[in-house]
Amino acid sequence: MKILITGGAGFIGSHLIQRLVTQRHEPVVLDNLSTGHKENVPNGIEFHVEDCRNVKALKNASKGCEFVYHLASTVGVEKVLGNPRECIENIIESTHAALSLGIPGMDFSTSEVYGKNTKILTEDSELVYSSKARWSYAASKLIGEWLVKSEGWKTVRLFNIVGPKQNLGYVFSNFVNRAANNETITVYGTGDQVRTFTDVRDAVNIFDTLRSVDFDVVNVGGTHTTTVKELANTVIGTLNSNSNVVSVPYSKAYAKGFEDVFEDCLVRIPDLTRLHALVGAYKYTPLENTIRDTAAV
Ligand code: UDP
Repeated sequence: MKILITGGAGFIGSHLIQRLVTQRHEPVVLDNLSTGHKENVPNGIEFHVEDCRNVKALKNASKGCEFVYHLASTVGVEKVLGNPRECIENIIESTHAALSLGIPGMDFSTSEVYGKNTKILTEDSELVYSSKARWSYAASKLIGEWLVKSEGWKTVRLFNIVGPKQNLGYVFSNFVNRAANNETITVYGTGDQVRTFTDVRDAVNIFDTLRSVDFDVVNVGGTHTTTVKELANTVIGTLNSNSNVVSVPYSKAYAKGFEDVFEDCLVRIPDLTRLHALVGAYKYTPLENTIRDTAAV
């Protein structure tokens, strides 16, 4: 099947291309290379270096495609805070453009949409925000969800997807990189923040399966919870690193000016009942393997 991947030159897209190729599909990539890299798109894959908001280019790229994975998005809270209008508009307009193709598809949303809710998060959990600007990213992604819902697209909410080739702006890739170089690892706040980390190769297998099952929104995340402090120690232990771990207060953790607009999510754990009902019991890659593979790249 010919399948369009918007944002396919990014971290998740690059792994999704590989998965689809091994399943004998024909991925077509559209990416403006704002945060993606052309090396992430193997030779032989049809590649359109275009912005997802360019409907004409999108239509041209989508010729013959029967499904759209819509990954093109501004990613990460910091980016949105740095240039709110451009990022918020980009998220919403790119989704609108992808939807205008009239092809079935999957939107990639984020666990950020749950906001500060610290309960185990089912797809129906409450979305808890404050007035801090941090939540503009979540709110933009949420509008994307509502847009695609109106056209019968599927939405996946991603919980900390990690692995080889992820940029260093995220805690997992950052810790692995520092540990591999025996550099100091910095834990923000108490380090008791709770997350699950899911290997991107597991995630893309799941996205492949989810294409052909029926649902509207589903969490995609891991079953194993860990605190950020524990993650630091696991990474150090797995890589036999000499790194030490220091705690820094939030006031020193973020770029200047972000302290007033940012607040952390202290606990973010997915309920995976719906996911496992859709894809069956999935055997996840152990975190240590993901750490080793990420360090090896
Ligand atoms: N974090 C940290 N040290 C770092 C980077 C992040 O302690 O060098 C913490 C951050 O405060 C958050 C968690 O790690 O509690 C996950 O951060 P990330 O930005 O990777 O993703 P999030 O889950 O917040 O979207």
